[in-house]
Amino acid sequence: MDCIFCKIVNGDIPSYKLYEDEIVMAFLDVNPYNPGHTLIIPKKHTLDINSIDNDTLMHIFRVAKDISKILTDKLNCEGFTLIQNNGFVQEVKHFHLHVIPKYKKKMEMDIKDVYEKITH
Ligand code: AMP
Ligand code: ZN
Repeated sequence: MDCIFCKIVNGDIPSYKLYEDEIVMAFLDVNPYNPGHTLIIPKKHTLDINSIDNDTLMHIFRVAKDISKILTDKLNCEGFTLIQNNGFVQEVKHFHLHVIPKYKKKMEMDIKDVYEKITH
């Protein structure tokens, strides 16, 4: 299947991976809204909120709590927002939950430096 997120899961294209288990993967968004913008996806190809099973959805939200804490601790963001797009506003047709750190002051950082800061 020609799905960019399936290719990331399979290791066919690189990603700034923050977390992985048997069900999900979390990695930095390459075109971040803010530094630390992270996507959490099911490893199994699934389109959207209508087709994802509830257990996987719950697991994604559990991971989102952990990721949000890590981003807050490592990047000192003062808030964060969870977003999940469906239908014509969903660009990549593989379910993903956005975790977007929010900063009181405008923050700009290279994605490599963000990754380094989170993982070290
Ligand atoms: P959405 O509009 O919710 O489908 O958003 C898709 C997101 O995927 C956008 O924020 C893109 O920047 C992000 N994205 C697209 N390709 C990649 C990639 N190869 N690695 C990481 N993030 C990506
Ligand atoms: Zn996919």
